Amino acid sequence: FQYQEKRKAVDLSHHLSDLSRARATSPLKGLARYFGRPDLISLAGGMPNEAYFPFAAISGDALVPDSFSIADSQSESSLSWLWKLFGSRKEKTTSVTIPKYPANKDDITLKVALQYGTATGLPQLQKFINELVEKIYQPAYLDWTILVQTGNTDGWSRAVTTLCNPGEAFITEDWTYPSALAGTAPYGIHPVGVLMDDQGMRSDELRKLLAEWDEGARGCKRPHVMYTVPVGQNPTGVTMGLERKREIYDICVEYDVIIVEDDPYYFLQMGSYAAKLDPVSQAMHADPESWLSSLAPSYLKYVIDYQGRVIRLDTFSKTIAPGARLGFFTCNPRFAERLERAGEVSTQAPCGFGQSLVAQLLTTWKYDGYVRWLQGLAVQYKSRRDFLLDALREEFDMQMSIGTTSSWKGCTVYTASSKPRAGSTRMLEKRAYGSKALFSLVPPTSGMFVWLKMHFENVPGFQPDEEPSTMELKLFVKLAEAGVLIGPGRYFSSDEDNASPVDGHFRIAFSYASEEDFTKAVKIFGEVMREFFKE
Ligand code: PMP
Repeated sequence: FQYQEKRKAVDLSHHLSDLSRARATSPLKGLARYFGRPDLISLAGGMPNEAYFPFAAISGDALVPDSFSIADSQSESSLSWLWKLFGSRKEKTTSVTIPKYPANKDDITLKVALQYGTATGLPQLQKFINELVEKIYQPAYLDWTILVQTGNTDGWSRAVTTLCNPGEAFITEDWTYPSALAGTAPYGIHPVGVLMDDQGMRSDELRKLLAEWDEGARGCKRPHVMYTVPVGQNPTGVTMGLERKREIYDICVEYDVIIVEDDPYYFLQMGSYAAKLDPVSQAMHADPESWLSSLAPSYLKYVIDYQGRVIRLDTFSKTIAPGARLGFFTCNPRFAERLERAGEVSTQAPCGFGQSLVAQLLTTWKYDGYVRWLQGLAVQYKSRRDFLLDALREEFDMQMSIGTTSSWKGCTVYTASSKPRAGSTRMLEKRAYGSKALFSLVPPTSGMFVWLKMHFENVPGFQPDEEPSTMELKLFVKLAEAGVLIGPGRYFSSDEDNASPVDGHFRIAFSYASEEDFTKAVKIFGEVMREFFKE
């Protein structure tokens, strides 16, 4: 790759949907450009006077940025490490207040935050987000533009209707986030899955799909939009590195495809499981800048999206709280303008309470503080992942083997053998159930999920024509009745017909439960699994 001088984004407005082209500026919102003038007497907008807002000020106690340790816990067992997280630690807090009226010119105020405004949100929040994008994602072109939205669910919904007409198809990973599919289905916009491996979407399969697209047979034109979750992918947990992103990007340039990068788990990159020399695992205990530069880059980065064909979706759901309902787009200015038009007639700006509290928190913490907070979170999620995987290994006496499953070539896979029960010798137990595979998994390096591939072919009496989803459902019900809820794989399929005849899947989230619940859940899971595979 030759580093090129940064240019403006190329004009990709031929991708806009009919709906998006038809949007005019909301007439009243068009007046907003005059609002900043100090001498202006506005009698135009239907705004309530701020004296009638019942909140005189809002304030809250927020944790300090270094609340979660980034110390290297690898010398201790991850078990003892996690115990500390939930101990009776006294939380250190800092107070955040938003007054109704400003004491200083640049203050965030309720007068503004709770008033009608433009769909671009609070200027102080915009400023912070711009700094974040510039420093962390380092976009490849000059006129990249950010725009607030109310979380990535809203982001994707706005992006897909801005780009796709009813009847069109979009490209996605073979397994994907169900709400992304449920949101497009009523518009008659349907997904086309691309096979995945341990880095997510496969570039050879993507090229094949686009090169061999048969409009007649498929019933629609070749897709021009891709929806992808490249880091800690939901549900499979896999993460795509720089090289694969560049391969995919180049194919998208060749076939003129817009990439919508839905990336909620970007800052939950934690490195390999049980590999002390992994660069990300090491950097997460180092200074924040080393940690940031160890992370898989966004598609926006200067070595990738030089044309401005990526709409990146960021959300504060996983880094602040889902209830904040706050996130942002980063994309070329033409798309940003159309997305803004869509926003001003639907959500308008995100809620003023959420925006002002998050903006005040971030400007109090400052960029360095927020990065430190994110790094602490990554270490937390690493401990959680390690705890769950350690517990599964212990429960199932898992052996490590390399590259044994077909669709996840070259991955590290754990096959499970049966655990000896009390009163039986290990040899007898092995004879009873053999060392057959019950499930396989690829230890995730980011995100919140472990994805299990079930080996239902090893269930005694298994009929080859039995649907994996039927087996999945049977096991799901048994687990639920025993008190453990996990996500059935079928929910995440981009295509109802694509499941292989013997595979079923489950998604386990390690983001929420306490260590006691993990321990209990894994025990129950072990018991139910052994029973199921013995039947
Ligand atoms: N996209 C993906 C891939 C997700 O996993 C999730 C949360 N589960 C979302 C979007 C939803 O994000 P938000 O809360 O920002 O709408």
